Amino acid sequence: MNWLDSHCHINDEAFKDDLDTVLQNMVNNDVRKAMIISSYIKDYEYGLTISHPEIEFIHSLGIYPGDADDVNEELFNAYAAHYSDDECKAIGEIGLDYHWNKENKEKQKEVFVRQLKLSQELDKPIIVHSRDAIQDTYDLMKQNPTKGVMHCYSDSAEMAKEFVKLGYYISISGTVTWKNAREPLEVIKVVPLDRLLIETDCPYLTPAPMRGKRNEPANVVYTGKKICEELGLDEEAFKMQLNENYQTLFRL
Ligand SMILES: [Zn+2]
Repeated sequence: MNWLDSHCHINDEAFKDDLDTVLQNMVNNDVRKAMIISSYIKDYEYGLTISHPEIEFIHSLGIYPGDADDVNEELFNAYAAHYSDDECKAIGEIGLDYHWNKENKEKQKEVFVRQLKLSQELDKPIIVHSRDAIQDTYDLMKQNPTKGVMHCYSDSAEMAKEFVKLGYYISISGTVTWKNAREPLEVIKVVPLDRLLIETDCPYLTPAPMRGKRNEPANVVYTGKKICEELGLDEEAFKMQLNENYQTLFRL
């Protein structure tokens, strides 16, 4: 069984010069599946052109909370038109981010809710970004039920349980390997294995042994192995579970 990266941005500028090497590193580390996340339509269209014979890519598009202020009807409709694409397996990353901007909370909420509703209508899962906004994120998701994953989950184990109760998956990033990781280690202990995913969020959040360098999908193995070590899991069984979760959530 192979590893997978449920959230990467290899369509980012950061990979423009050496994408071939990055893809080869994935194969070398046995990372054979990845979800490419786009916050802009041009990145999504570029993402669709990325391919490798030994890697299965899927795609997601969503209006990033940090861009809420730029959203007008025309822009919203341009995104929405792509959400029903066969290639678009999820809507995201969407959500709330009060870390970078708390002046436009209402606008962020409005854009998030409209995308939650589209997710319900189109029956497509969401990929949720929430930073310093977990209670509002939870409330809106509870009021607008759909399916999806809490990406790069970085809040408490208690809240993780609540999202699991709503039916969501919890995705763990490289932060679980960091020296100061306390919460992610608590989170992996309370999330049922059939609701867990792993991701890099590359080029960000590089796992411990590579910290300081640009992150890439091949590094997801450090996150996976760390979780196996912490939970005393058999690697093969864990990989199998991750693949099952990924296929179920994104309906592959
Ligand atoms: Zn991301």
